[in-house]
Amino acid sequence: MVNYLVEEGHWGIYKNIENMPLERFDSFRTIINEFSTKVGHITQFSPVRGKRPFEHNNDKEEIIHSPRDDSFCKVVEGKLPAVIISKDTSKEEDALSINSSKAILSEFNAISIVNLFTPMARVLYDNVQQITSVRDKSVGVGLVHLLVNHYDTLSEVPISEVEQLLLTTRLAQKNSISELKAKYDTDKLTILHFFNIGEEAGASICHLHSQTYIYANEIGHGWTSLGFLSVPGFHKKLKNNLNYCLACELSKADKKVIDPIGQDLLVKERKVFENGEWLVVTAFSPERDGQLRIFPKRHVSQFIYLDDKQITDLAEALVYANKALDNFIKGTSPSMHLLQDRNILFRQDNIGYDSGMHMIIDIIPIQRIGGAEIMETYRIATMFPEDVAEIMRESLKETK
Ligand SMILES: [Zn+2]
Ligand SMILES: [Zn+2]
Repeated sequence: MVNYLVEEGHWGIYKNIENMPLERFDSFRTIINEFSTKVGHITQFSPVRGKRPFEHNNDKEEIIHSPRDDSFCKVVEGKLPAVIISKDTSKEEDALSINSSKAILSEFNAISIVNLFTPMARVLYDNVQQITSVRDKSVGVGLVHLLVNHYDTLSEVPISEVEQLLLTTRLAQKNSISELKAKYDTDKLTILHFFNIGEEAGASICHLHSQTYIYANEIGHGWTSLGFLSVPGFHKKLKNNLNYCLACELSKADKKVIDPIGQDLLVKERKVFENGEWLVVTAFSPERDGQLRIFPKRHVSQFIYLDDKQITDLAEALVYANKALDNFIKGTSPSMHLLQDRNILFRQDNIGYDSGMHMIIDIIPIQRIGGAEIMETYRIATMFPEDVAEIMRESLKETK
């Protein structure tokens, strides 16, 4: 192992506490919830991220194919150092390691590395112990999971490579979670797992990758997560049934599902794709036109608890869902302002909460929005998800 001279903040490594990222809560919309964590609007300040380069082409083709000379390609070719957490299904460095290395990785399918521009502090270089006592700072681990081969979008990746990406992600998350729990002596961690695909969706590098942020301090989560985490308990109470789970109900066959607040969820009409383990539907109440929602058919609360069969089938579901969304967006009118760029959000239970939440994956394309929608968790849509699903289903018949 070679320890390269680390620039302040790179890979989340800080020499000076004053430089560490921190967060502020909006006092007018923050509470302390039943799990004793703060919930509210959070702004995280990470000055080092302002200096990260954006590696994109400037041409505006419909689907951009970027050159294979980005930083991730260079890591894979052994030209740039990285802190490597996992290679396919084998564990490498610990989540809090300071060992970076250059290695040729072309024999693997997918790897997890520490995010060079990680938005939280991971390690204090000179005195690693001190970091546990820094209460008002953002601490944890920022990971990047990437395919060794260069692709721009999920739709173009062979399903077997997506599977390897998900497997290496599961391994890196599992190990990081247990290492952070031990290091910070806590059972509660906040985990954010997502893909940014395309420049407008926030990707600074075109080379397809997903990310995991795991926070080890008490930053809790925002109102959006609180919604997902609180609703299972509300449903159980309303239905007077401790075993009730709405996502389990709608994952069962094609039966009519009325949700606990009385809406017919039109599951059959919204279905786009399904396989043994996963159901892909257009969102009943979409945040952007074309939004897809993917449910595991068997109840599971977190990504790390997916078994191998669920991972294999998820790879297929993700590829078909992304192809269906590509096809739908190609056919929309310019007045809808829908872009091919998109975010994929893994909505799951917080570590140590046991909220009863059923994991959900949302695929949300970028679409121009206005003040009303920024003001509230509210959206004006132009198409019914049932009609969007019909277009997507038809398009997949031609794709297959
Ligand atoms: Zn690349
Ligand atoms: Zn469930």
